[in-house]
Amino acid sequence: MIHRKVAMPARKRIALVAHDGQKQNLVEWAKFNRGTLAEHDIWATGTTGTMMEAELDVPVSKLLSGPLGGDQQIGAMIAEGKIDLLIFFWDPLEPQPHDPDVKALLRMAVVWNIPTACDRATADFLISSPLLDTAYERRVPDYEAYRRERLADDDLKAAAKTAKVKR
Ligand code: PGA
Repeated sequence: MIHRKVAMPARKRIALVAHDGQKQNLVEWAKFNRGTLAEHDIWATGTTGTMMEAELDVPVSKLLSGPLGGDQQIGAMIAEGKIDLLIFFWDPLEPQPHDPDVKALLRMAVVWNIPTACDRATADFLISSPLLDTAYERRVPDYEAYRRERLADDDLKAAAKTAKVKR
């Protein structure tokens, strides 16, 4: 597959998300790393973001609460190239009402080759990486070729024709 490069700025756009059972864990981690986080732009789902702002006293751009669409908003931002790094402490011991959204967010992170930490040790490794505060070119598969291939697909062409006739 052909790849292209996506430029990531030195000042990263970091998304923070934690399920309820992991919020304290994320707060402790973020407090320890407050100085480093303050040098980047922080985005978060609603409740996580409110806790972060209160505990860290750093500006946080807050989205909707996760179960109300916040995970999907972060996934969409990843697809649009607006998030560079994802710290997502999901809870491995509690079922979540928005489990499909959780899966979708993790999938988007892999589709777009976004550095992702789902536990504290990985988050430690990510935040202490020399790449965190330098510009970096992320390799992303050339999905344009994938899109062209799909448009050339005969079944899809036929379906599009039928849809036109119906309209
Ligand atoms: P919250 O959402 O920050 O609003 O709690 C997190 C989640 O459950 O995805």
